[in-house]
Amino acid sequence: MINFKTASELLKWYWNTYDKAKSLPINVIAIAQRLRVLVFEDDFTGPHNQDAYGYLRYVEDNLYGDAYGIYVNRKHAPVRKNFTVAHELGHYCLHQGELKEAHELNRVNEFSPEEEWANNFAAELLMPTELLRRVHGELVFLTVAELAKRFAVSHVAMSRRLGALGLKVTR
Ligand SMILES: [Zn+2]
Repeated sequence: MINFKTASELLKWYWNTYDKAKSLPINVIAIAQRLRVLVFEDDFTGPHNQDAYGYLRYVEDNLYGDAYGIYVNRKHAPVRKNFTVAHELGHYCLHQGELKEAHELNRVNEFSPEEEWANNFAAELLMPTELLRRVHGELVFLTVAELAKRFAVSHVAMSRRLGALGLKVTR
C-alpha cells in the first residue's frame, strides 16, 4: 500500500501513473478508485446525522487486499460531494491503519485541527497550486465563478483557495 502524506504527493502519483494530461476538473472519484477506495451515496438516515457531509469506512479485506468506502450525502450538490470525497481521502491518507480497526470517520460541522487539515488537503487536491496558478495566468477576464466551474468546486471554496495563494480576480 502506498502512503501519501500530502495531497500534492497523491496527485503527483496519480498524474504520473494514470493521467499524464493532468485534466481538469480533478476527478476525485477516479483517484479514490485507484487507491481502492470506493465512493457511495448515502441517504444519511440511520445513525448518521441528516446534515452530515460524509464518512469513511474500512470495507473489507479480500483476495485483492484492503478496501475502503467513502459515503457522501446524496442530497448535496455535486461540488460539495467532490469536496467531501477529497476531504475523506485526506482522512484516508492519515488513518488507513486505524480505520482497519473497524471505526468510521465522519465529516460533520466541527472544528478540530484534523478537520482543518483534511479541508486543506481537499483544497490542495481539487485546486492544486500549480494548476490553479496556470489557469489563473491564462484567463484574461477572470471571475471566481469561472474558476470554480473549471475546478468543480464551490464559489466559497475557490474564493478561500485564491485568498490562501494570494491570487487576485476581477470579481
Ligand atoms: Zn473530516
